[in-house]
Amino acid sequence: MELTHNHYTIAGAVDPLELVQKYGCPLYVYDTAIMEKQYRRMTDAVKVKRLRINYAAKALSNINILKFFQRLGAGLDTVSIQEVMLGLKAGFVPRDITFTPNCVGLDELLEAVRLGVRINIDNISILEQFGQARPDIPICIRINPHIMAGGNLKTSVGHIDSKFGISIHMMPMVHRVVEATGLRVEGIHMHTGSDILDPDVFVAGAEVLLKYASEFPDLDYVDFGSGFKVSYMPGDIETDMEELGEKMTARFNEFCREYGRDLELVFEPGKFLVSAAGFFFVKVNVIKYTTSTVFAGVDSGLNHLLRPMFYNAHHHITNVSNPEGKPRFYAIVGYICETDTFGVNRRIPEIREGDILCIHNAGAYGHVMSSNYNSRYRPAEVMIHAGKDYLIRREETMEDILRNQVEVDL
Ligand SMILES: *Cc1c(COP(=O)(O)O)cnc(C)c1O
Repeated sequence: MELTHNHYTIAGAVDPLELVQKYGCPLYVYDTAIMEKQYRRMTDAVKVKRLRINYAAKALSNINILKFFQRLGAGLDTVSIQEVMLGLKAGFVPRDITFTPNCVGLDELLEAVRLGVRINIDNISILEQFGQARPDIPICIRINPHIMAGGNLKTSVGHIDSKFGISIHMMPMVHRVVEATGLRVEGIHMHTGSDILDPDVFVAGAEVLLKYASEFPDLDYVDFGSGFKVSYMPGDIETDMEELGEKMTARFNEFCREYGRDLELVFEPGKFLVSAAGFFFVKVNVIKYTTSTVFAGVDSGLNHLLRPMFYNAHHHITNVSNPEGKPRFYAIVGYICETDTFGVNRRIPEIREGDILCIHNAGAYGHVMSSNYNSRYRPAEVMIHAGKDYLIRREETMEDILRNQVEVDL
């Protein structure tokens, strides 16, 4: 059987039910063909001399996925020193990794310098400290353009009261620190958050970034971050990458002419590259009726996929084992002792005990945000690549639960 989500198909040759049988349930499955397709959409859409797509590792950081993007020719965007180390282990050369942390100490930045990766600084206090410690290391500066974009306050990071980036109103101070310390600014960056629908909103943000970019004479790259929206249900709109690419191409080429040099245009998508490539399979343990609702209780919960509960994110849910059943309305809930609802009022082909459901768009911010809450295991991950399935993470065991616990005699 084939599983389709909008225009995507998973596992042409691989039956999801067989995968679940082979690897157990619950199970995360990623299809690299969808990732590659999304990557090529971006590289095809943006026609500038120097383009770099830095995959945002935090969306899905299994080392095999990082290796896959490295082979495609992507760079890597990292937000912790551990992600930097993972990226190096996956084969990225240091210069292809950008370190874009928020609220980390100078020590962690100096460690990143030691590892040779690009440094992106997002507050003036660290800019001063870094400039005194390592004025010889070129840096990138993350600005906050103050545009409110994105789905909600949890995913929007470019608004005026966001903790991310240096306010554009503070740019005179940035210049003073740069001059006083002798730092060289090689890059300028913004990342305004997730789920920007309208290419024009993105381009408006880009315009703000370019305005400040022209104040720095030694730039090598301009990093426009990410925030591209993906489609979360049939008929949902996603960022029109082709239109956005066309508009950014025109504007950036014009900017480079004015600037007098071909700068590198950088994007750092996470969700856009991997969200639709991920499928999370869960098994129905219980069908439960209340006076108002039919619940399907599954063998997973907020410990495995947090987005529906944390962001109120909508994830499309399908019944893989009874696709032709008569549709009814269900609430899909987890087994954690909290309210952990994957979806309510979902019209789904009849769900029976033992059925396998698929939760879609599970590639980005799925497994990476999982936990051991309720002392449960994090699930296995499988990668489909060139028609073959590979186990890329085993399900945890009791050993993992106990690994760092230190038992003392009372
Ligand atoms: C999380 C993050 C991204 C990726 O965001 P998506 O919405 O997944 O594309 C890019 N850049 C930075 C700095 C981030 O923190």
